[in-house]
Amino acid sequence: MKINILGGGVAGISSAIALKKKGFDVTVYERHESETNIGAGIVLWPNASFILDKLGILKE
Ligand SMILES: Cc1cc2nc3c(=O)[nH]c(=O)nc-3n(C[C@H](O)[C@H](O)[C@H](O)COP(=O)(O)OP(=O)(O)OC[C@H]3O[C@@H](n4cnc5c(N)ncnc54)[C@H](O)[C@@H]3O)c2cc1C
Repeated sequence: MKINILGGGVAGISSAIALKKKGFDVTVYERHESETNIGAGIVLWPNASFILDKLGILKE
């Protein structure tokens, strides 16, 4: 099954990784040409770290 995701934020990218791991054909469409940031740090709560670990990207 082919799945298109609109938005390459944390929700879109996380969903894409999880769906690809399940064997789906996933394409993410992002309106910005490259990543942006607002100069702020980010706090990762334990449940977010748990999910990143499950997705295999916690170390990165
Ligand atoms: C100042 C600030 C500090 C924060 N700090 C933290 C923190 O420390 N820890 C934490 O867990 N959370 C933090 N948050 C909250 C966190 O950033 C959001 O909860 C999270 O980014 C939401 O992710 P998202 O993927 O749902 O949406 P977004 O990150 O908003 O991603 C949506 C993406 O969809 C794209 N898009 C929209 N419409 C279209 C379209 N029609 N076609 C294609 N692409 C489209 C947008 O360009 C965007 O890239 C912070 C938020 C702010 C504003």
